[in-house]
Amino acid sequence: MDYKKLADLLFPDVKNDIEFYFNKYPKRELNDGAEVTRIAPSPTGFLHLGTAYGALIDYLIARKSDGVFYMRLEDTDQKREIENAGSIAYDMLCYYDIKPTEGYTGNNAQIGDYGDYIQSHRIDIYRTFAKHLVSIGRAFPCFCEKSENKEDILARRNEQLESGDNIETKDPCRNLTYEEIEQNIKMGKPFAIRLLSKGDAEKTFEFDDLIKGKRTLRENDKDIVLLKSNGIPPYSLAHIVDDTLMGTTIVVRGEEWYSSLPAHLEVFDAFGFNRPKYAHTPVICKHDEQGNKRKLSKRKDAEADARYYIEKGYPKQAVVEYLLNLLNSDFEEWRMNNPTSDYNDFNFDISKIGSNNPMFDIVKLEDISKQIISHYTPEQIYENVCEWAKEFDKDFYEVLRNNKDICLQLFSIDRVDTPKPRKDIGKWSDVKGLYSYMFKELCNLNDLSKYEFNENISKENTVKVLKAYLPIYNENDDKQMWFDKIKGICEPLGFSADMKAYKKNPELFLGSVADVSGIIRVAVTGRKNTPDLFYICKLLGANEVRNRIQSAMELLSN
Ligand code: GLU
Repeated sequence: MDYKKLADLLFPDVKNDIEFYFNKYPKRELNDGAEVTRIAPSPTGFLHLGTAYGALIDYLIARKSDGVFYMRLEDTDQKREIENAGSIAYDMLCYYDIKPTEGYTGNNAQIGDYGDYIQSHRIDIYRTFAKHLVSIGRAFPCFCEKSENKEDILARRNEQLESGDNIETKDPCRNLTYEEIEQNIKMGKPFAIRLLSKGDAEKTFEFDDLIKGKRTLRENDKDIVLLKSNGIPPYSLAHIVDDTLMGTTIVVRGEEWYSSLPAHLEVFDAFGFNRPKYAHTPVICKHDEQGNKRKLSKRKDAEADARYYIEKGYPKQAVVEYLLNLLNSDFEEWRMNNPTSDYNDFNFDISKIGSNNPMFDIVKLEDISKQIISHYTPEQIYENVCEWAKEFDKDFYEVLRNNKDICLQLFSIDRVDTPKPRKDIGKWSDVKGLYSYMFKELCNLNDLSKYEFNENISKENTVKVLKAYLPIYNENDDKQMWFDKIKGICEPLGFSADMKAYKKNPELFLGSVADVSGIIRVAVTGRKNTPDLFYICKLLGANEVRNRIQSAMELLSN
């Protein structure tokens, strides 16, 4: 068959050849070892945590090797298209400081010499490349899709399945003669373009994936579709053309693509293009309510959406560091030894990514976040909470604005000048609940259920403690005196002022000095856990402290 003639028959309007595009997009001039990576999301209207995870790998590889990290929008599946979806994904990446430096930048604006970076704008390019494959005898038109032929094929496949014969993967249209094809074209039949596979599924080859390592794979033997009958290429042609012209050196993509890798490699080989390196990333999973492991899902899990963490108020650094933890398990140790270093200084290594699917663990993320926030200055905490509240809790924002001084002092307690700064805030949305007692607008200590009193101590004894403490509280006492006074009321009420003595014989006492100060703490704040009570009382002011003790006593006595 004269393939050149066939190509012209199928694509009479395609005038350029692939050389035209290789001239238009010359090889990148980069230093040896520089890697070109890309994030290529489909516009689904949000950024999946797994996409951010892959993008972080891209970003770190490019950064480490002095290469390029670009963004391409894979929007050829227009049925699923959602408005602004591409720019949401780009904005999210920028927000998390995983910013591509080339390519699509949202709302059709683009940077770089290898564009257009939006696939739906590149249809002419794909058609040129599909035509080329036809012209060298490695692709053929398939008229089945929209014709009765398809049913025949399916019927035959079912028969083969039942009889246990090998399933026919080669498409019957590969055997059409030029005349038959011409006839179909004349009749106006739509056609897809398929790869003419030369593979044999009985044969295997070795492939070294940057994450999965060396594995033996079966050759592709399927005549996969490269151009649909509407002229739009599926991923299996589009990414090969794009990654070639855009000079991608490492394709980092989700593990769900691994099974189609042999087909993609065959397409690269059919063109005679260099294959990029591939890194198939494990998929982030979680345990569902039944304890079964499943993929973190956009439909079922709010945490799958990168916006979730913004709404909850996790610092972006916490999210990125959590992902880094999933990627390289030695990150945690590095962070421990370098508590205040920029995470970009960590020596990320793609070969250390395990191929097991990591389990999503919000508790771990929260711990990382607490650790990070514990190193913030009071001003940083205040600014971040304000910024978060301005968008997600307007009433609280007003409270914060009206109480800036109090907040700054509050956020200094147990945080400034201490080797072990307080780790109570895991996200900005925690602050209101943790510290509501500090603000008259939010303090709601109006019935006993709002107080976390120790249930092991009777109401009567709790009241006795408060009664004893109320007259001796003096806002002018220094910390030592303040604490000595609390100790002073212990023994007469049957509590131990000495922790050691208490621990030795707890049965001899109603409780310890820790329980006594705990009662005062709960009466003043409602909470069992607060920063240093001495300073909290100072911030609240003597009148407020006395009023609160008084009203707690009343509630307890009723
Ligand atoms: N558009 C594909 C996806 O969202 C990209 C896969 C790739 O990175 O090559 O899964």
